[in-house]
Amino acid sequence: MPNLNFHPAGRHFLQIPGPSPVPDRILRAISYPTIDHRGPEFGALGRQVLAGIRAIFKTQHPVVIYPASGTGAWEAALTNTMSPGDAVLMYETGHFASLWKKMAERLGLEPEFLGLPGIEGWRRGVQADLIEQRLQADSAHRIKAVCVVHNETSTGVTTDIAAVRRAIDRARHPALLMVDTISGLASADYRHDEWGVDVTVSGSQKGLMLPPGISFNALSPKALAASRVARLPKAFWAWDEIVEMNSTGYWPYTPNTNLLYGLAEAMDMILEEGLDNVFARHLRLGAACRQAVRAWGLEIQCVEEACHSPVLTGVMMPAGVDADRVRKLVYEHFNMSLGAGLGKLKGRMFRIGHLGECNDLTLMATLSGCEMGLGLAGVALQGSGVVAAMAHLQSTAQATARYPVE
Ligand SMILES: *Cc1c(COP(=O)(O)O)cnc(C)c1O
Repeated sequence: MPNLNFHPAGRHFLQIPGPSPVPDRILRAISYPTIDHRGPEFGALGRQVLAGIRAIFKTQHPVVIYPASGTGAWEAALTNTMSPGDAVLMYETGHFASLWKKMAERLGLEPEFLGLPGIEGWRRGVQADLIEQRLQADSAHRIKAVCVVHNETSTGVTTDIAAVRRAIDRARHPALLMVDTISGLASADYRHDEWGVDVTVSGSQKGLMLPPGISFNALSPKALAASRVARLPKAFWAWDEIVEMNSTGYWPYTPNTNLLYGLAEAMDMILEEGLDNVFARHLRLGAACRQAVRAWGLEIQCVEEACHSPVLTGVMMPAGVDADRVRKLVYEHFNMSLGAGLGKLKGRMFRIGHLGECNDLTLMATLSGCEMGLGLAGVALQGSGVVAAMAHLQSTAQATARYPVE
């Protein structure tokens, strides 16, 4: 029997890189009564969220919102644009890139996986020159899409999407560019239009601070054109009917009304803070977290300085230490959840999420829990990461609230 009376004092620290903690404001918004999804009130909500979400993706083009997890939006991106047997060039940055490739296989596509061997490729962003070389060799233009993960949640490594775009352009190749920023959106800088992305895939439960349950495809005119001739079967995921009904604020089926209330609230919060301020907050928290890991004398999973994720930090364990044991100790003693190592990294690292509803003191509490958990696990630490992170935060602190003037 699970212990359903497990309610330790204080708030649970959900420091996994998604789902991230849902702010009270959003939880309250989601609790409003469900309304008629064909009525006028809903239309106004629909138009509001569909317009607002374009600002988050930085696009002038349609963004499709699905009542599905991010995985559904992956499928939508592929089924709307590809035909059976199409070759797609995917890049192995980590576990999520591998899952997207597996999906492409199941859909009857022919994915080709580029990347560096072993876990080396999991410690760096996409090497755009490898993509350029591969596309240059594809003179018959068999490759129909290039698929990359912007913020690889399994490793804490981000990719320079503009560099991937430049690589495709230098090869003068017509492949579509598809990007998964399920965990990057609204936390890490992202520009759908400026970076020339054709389909951006995202989800609700990471930077957008919502519960799981809605996901997105941001489109380009080229992607929409491809969807008119693509032959993979698609029905529920088909963009055409959704985009058409969305023009008046409605969906062809019952949308996730309550999560759309939450989305409207989340966008208000993000735009009130300012998207660029949100990105800067994440960059600063990420830098403080890495100061802590370095002070502990532990290795950061990402080895490329320019690619450290502002969303999460992967912490490698010394040889002989089981990262999952550390996570278990932290959970049992300090009421905090940390992310597990996934795929090739299982047991070798844990992941600290610092995304969405996260501030200086959330991060400090999180790092305290990690430091105590590492201590309980008997990991020999070089020094205090908590002290190092505090020093970083203190020296870069800026007032975000003011007492009233007397
Ligand atoms: C979370 C995540 C996914 C999977 O999304 P689900 O909502 O779990 O289906 C895919 N890619 C990345 C990069 C993610 O972070």
